[in-house]
Amino acid sequence: MKQRSTATDQVVHSVLARAGVLGARELRAWKRPQDDIRRLTNSDYAASLRQRLSFAQVNELVHRATDVWPHFNRRVLGPPSAEFFSRAADALQLHLKTARYTSLALYGFYVDRSESALAKPLIFVNSAHHDLAIGTTFCHEVGHHFCTELARPRRAGVRFYFDAAYNEHLRDEGELAADVIVSLAGYPKPAARAIFTRGLRREIARKGHLDQIVIDRIRTHLEQSYGFAFSAALSPAQNLQYLAGMLHYAKLRAALLEEYDL
Ligand SMILES: [Zn+2]
Repeated sequence: MKQRSTATDQVVHSVLARAGVLGARELRAWKRPQDDIRRLTNSDYAASLRQRLSFAQVNELVHRATDVWPHFNRRVLGPPSAEFFSRAADALQLHLKTARYTSLALYGFYVDRSESALAKPLIFVNSAHHDLAIGTTFCHEVGHHFCTELARPRRAGVRFYFDAAYNEHLRDEGELAADVIVSLAGYPKPAARAIFTRGLRREIARKGHLDQIVIDRIRTHLEQSYGFAFSAALSPAQNLQYLAGMLHYAKLRAALLEEYDL
């Protein structure tokens, strides 16, 4: 981890200066999390997944992740500690920068080599978030790195990860691929099978109905595996944002199980 690298700091600084401008739409959306949640609930994840990513493409990502984390999709990854991140960043030959950033709307970003003078790609993670959200961001940005390595068609340059942008992710191959890594890391297959039981997973992936039993199972899993609970210490808006993330990754996970048996 190159936390003190001046060159890295300069890149982070210049990218963050653009975040507010480029993310104006996302920042507006961030103020209306209920809208995001309603759209997520109605989205057909199974259709989006099949449309954007083939089974072979998802499998390639899984193989790459298994090179780094041998028990990927078999056991929970983490805990999302500084040591876990720095080990993965070293294995992947990445610059990693974690810092508290004032706007919680920004989770992090990925900068590929073409965008900066750095010798290695860069991941920035906003550490002002809960550990689970930090781990989510890290895995999402690593997903972008895998796509770069696998030379998937993608937009060049900086990839911002804003909260409230999950609906956009369903329309973007690169973003959805990055989210696949998060969903499989967060809900390894044995856990996913237990949460999204056979009779329910198709319904969840397609029409989006997460009934109370499934939500309770998800919350228990997130609490036991990552110590995450919706907390009175967080603002209502922040809790709603985390709820949007929970719904998005859970629905995507159900779709991966239903469509690709992963
Ligand atoms: Zn992204």
